Amino acid sequence: MGLERIARVFQALQLLAIALSPSFAIWYLATFSPVPPPVFENHPFHEFAITIATLIGGFVSYVSWRSYKDSGEIFLRWLTVGFLAFTLIYAPHGFLTRTAHHNIWLFLLFGPVSRLVMLGCMAYGLAQYGKPAENVGEVLTRGFWRYVFGASAVAVAGVVVLANSSLASSPWVRLPMESAAALLCLGGVTVMVLRRITSPLMKYYGVALLLFAQAAMAFILAKPWDHMWWLAHAIFAVGFSVIGWGVVSALLTTKSFASAFSQEQLMRALEQEKELLDALNRELWAERQLARTTLDALPDHVCVIDETGTILAVNESWRDFLEANHGDLGSGGVGSNYLHACERADGPRSDGAETAAAAIRAVLQGTSDGFSMEYSCDAPGEARWFLMSVLKAQSASGLRVVIAHQNISKRKEAEIRLRHLAMIDGLTGIANRRTFDETLGQEWRRASRAGTPLALLMIDVDHFKAYNDHYGHQAGDECLKTVAATLAATAKRPADLVARYGGEEFGVILPGCTLTDAQTLAEKMRLAVAELHLPHLASQTSGEVTISIGVSCLNLVATQGDSLDTQSLIAEADTALYRAKTSGRNCVSAQPAP
Ligand code: GH3
Ligand code: MG
Ligand code: MG
Repeated sequence: MGLERIARVFQALQLLAIALSPSFAIWYLATFSPVPPPVFENHPFHEFAITIATLIGGFVSYVSWRSYKDSGEIFLRWLTVGFLAFTLIYAPHGFLTRTAHHNIWLFLLFGPVSRLVMLGCMAYGLAQYGKPAENVGEVLTRGFWRYVFGASAVAVAGVVVLANSSLASSPWVRLPMESAAALLCLGGVTVMVLRRITSPLMKYYGVALLLFAQAAMAFILAKPWDHMWWLAHAIFAVGFSVIGWGVVSALLTTKSFASAFSQEQLMRALEQEKELLDALNRELWAERQLARTTLDALPDHVCVIDETGTILAVNESWRDFLEANHGDLGSGGVGSNYLHACERADGPRSDGAETAAAAIRAVLQGTSDGFSMEYSCDAPGEARWFLMSVLKAQSASGLRVVIAHQNISKRKEAEIRLRHLAMIDGLTGIANRRTFDETLGQEWRRASRAGTPLALLMIDVDHFKAYNDHYGHQAGDECLKTVAATLAATAKRPADLVARYGGEEFGVILPGCTLTDAQTLAEKMRLAVAELHLPHLASQTSGEVTISIGVSCLNLVATQGDSLDTQSLIAEADTALYRAKTSGRNCVSAQPAP
């Protein structure tokens, strides 16, 4: 037998000793009281004691009722009924103390009747103990309360009738009632032992039953007002206090007698709960570490901000970047405000910093869940490009926004280079045909909208086939490069575009230029090429490389009523170029005025 088991047996025996201790006082008084026994007839004291008992009875009834309403435990319903009936029937016992002189039975009989009714209800409740909870709403009807109060009133009336009858003084009235009370209590305890009812609050119940049984014994041995009579009252009061303690404990815990936990059970449950929490904490910590490591392993610069924009956490990459380029990412370290840095006029000069701040604010205000955007920021000697990805997250302490910056400078550079390559002619290094077409379209639309002039030159190298045939294709290429560079150098305005149109033909777009201005520039170009004095021995005219130029202008095309597209402009310039060719080459021909 382990120590724990011995301790449990010892505990049970201690409880039993406490519960049975009044027996010693009963035996002592019964053995050593003189005959006739001394009496202590004090009416005010008795009235006071019964008043207190009635008040406590009322309170305990109310507490039982409240717990029953919550748990629906049938046992508690019968405790409530028992306590209420006891209170209602016991109250006259105190109130009628003053009648003790002329009708002692009217005063005396309320005690045993009230206790017997209460113990009867409690015994019935014990029989229902452990049954499933019932529907309180269905039970606690007006009829139920009418029945409880009615039955109590009938009991009071019965006592009054009995007290005034000749049976009142018969020992067969009071003694059987007290004996029945004692038997109900002992029977209850026996049932509890047999059913092994050991829930902590039911231990109070069992102790109270044993005390009530001893109180009944004392009442059997007592005469009104003698010491045994007062002792019986005291034992009963202790029993009532014990059951009251149990009822209040139920209210303060599970609102039920059956499901209240013992301290031992609670400690065990707490221990298990703590172990579970510890395990969860460890798991959480490990997850946190994993998340941290994952974040640090990322090449992106990542930070987490709260709803005010304050940086709460950054990853390794962010820290490294900050160290290398102080404040370049739009903020400092943890604790500084990311949004303020973005919005500050003297903050980092990055395209889109303000746009980013506004978009992040939208995420914080809940109008967006996240976004991603590209932005550039100036770094000494280079333009840095970042892809910013912003995502909303919810943490236990509030809204969080995760901001990741991916350095995409290399990709951007490649993109820019590719775009440049796509726009440039590989041989001459000036704009290619594609750029020419796109630019002409744009300028056409702009000029049409604004009503400004737009001129076009179509340039063709004279007798170039012969040049190729004479000097070879490679020399032809070199010649084309020189002509292209000369043309590009002559068109000085930033808006002008000199492009290789194809083969040895060039196109020049001159936004804002009138026909006259364009003719002037064309003449300049023709002269510039002629002044290169590039030998062309195969030339049938000059002996040098020359160009012919056709000029057209948007205004003239429009007023002529032709279809308003770029092709008309090109066609006009081509026609003019053809005229220049047929008029002997090395000259400028303009589209004729309408
Ligand atoms: P015209 O004065 O009437 O223009 O006579 P042309 O010989 O120049 O006649 P056309 O314009 O039809 O000839 C174009 C020639 O330009 C054909 C081709 O040999 C030459 N050519 C076209 N593209 C290139 C190039 O990229 N490199 C070289 N070397 N020659 C080219
Ligand atoms: Mg040609
Ligand atoms: Mg030619």
